[in-house]
Amino acid sequence: LPFLRRLRRAGLAAALLLAACTSAPEDVRESRFIMGTLVTFTVSDTPRQQALAAIKAAADEMQRIQNTFTIYGDTPNAVKAFNHQPPGRPMPLPAEVDALLQTSLAIARASGGAFSPALGAPDLLWGFSLPDAPHAPPPARALTRAMQGADWRLLAHTPQGWVRQHASTQLDFGGIAKGYAIDRAIAVLRQHGVRHAIVDAGGDMRLIGSHHGRPWRIGIRHPRRKTTVLGWLEAQGDIAIVTSGDYERFFIWHGKRWHHILDPSTGQPARRAMSATVIASDATRADAWSTALFVLGAEGLPLIRQNGMRAVLVDAAGRVHATPDLQGGVSPVAFHPAGENP
Ligand code: AMP
Ligand code: MG
Repeated sequence: LPFLRRLRRAGLAAALLLAACTSAPEDVRESRFIMGTLVTFTVSDTPRQQALAAIKAAADEMQRIQNTFTIYGDTPNAVKAFNHQPPGRPMPLPAEVDALLQTSLAIARASGGAFSPALGAPDLLWGFSLPDAPHAPPPARALTRAMQGADWRLLAHTPQGWVRQHASTQLDFGGIAKGYAIDRAIAVLRQHGVRHAIVDAGGDMRLIGSHHGRPWRIGIRHPRRKTTVLGWLEAQGDIAIVTSGDYERFFIWHGKRWHHILDPSTGQPARRAMSATVIASDATRADAWSTALFVLGAEGLPLIRQNGMRAVLVDAAGRVHATPDLQGGVSPVAFHPAGENP
């Protein structure tokens, strides 16, 4: 009898699979390693060959952005050149870099400096993004020196180009470039005629359209329990969801967690949150603001709201906070806390 039951179950599964093939076309899903993370492209309701070509072009575009903005490695780019430009001497930046720097500075201002694109020197010193991950904080004196010019207000725009006003004023787009790359990937997918897709770069994502006419369903992971979700988001249309977490790149030293999101006022890892998830209309803003919200902690939630975004924050004590519109669950985003069955 158990054998028969198993057989019947198998038959049913095969029948369901067949139904899935005939009624709804399969999603096309491809993963690539870009920007230090696994990027998964999911395209639905698109002919397979068209979807694959679109994904390849989108992945190439993300890789190009990585090369344009990274301050790591030996391959020259304008950002690295600027960081070595003598202080006080203007240098024109390529239009794309100029534009993302302007966006970064606007968010630096709006976040009261919690997001800063001028942390290149302390970021390189901590070394969280180096191939050899660090195991201890840098020497205090070296960090003090790196922090002297690490202030976004020391970046000046002149008719001759951009000026860094101190030897340790260095750009770092690590808090925003991934979001920008996701936005560009979505734009490239659209140019290829894709209408329904998710670009997911290690949990940071933007989605467009719907999933066979139903909302896409996104889990927000728990910052301490890898296999648990804080809750589910159901969304369709055009929405970006980006998380900054202290579990992404960190080491434990003297019983304490040291991670890659720095408080720009001290140069030390920010201590007010475990994770900050921001939902916005584009991934560039969601990325920069998730970093800012992580630094600000729960006190930053009103600012997120005032700027027309939504957020879920896990504070340093592990308490979950959310902007009011998420607690209720509103269209096109509904948030279901874990435990509640969506
Ligand atoms: P994210 O993972 O998006 O929160 O960005 C973290 C990365 O952005 C780090 O690896 C640094 O390169 C850079 N970063 C660290 N702290 C900040 C900050 N307060 N503002 C902007 N960028 C930061
Ligand atoms: Mg960010």
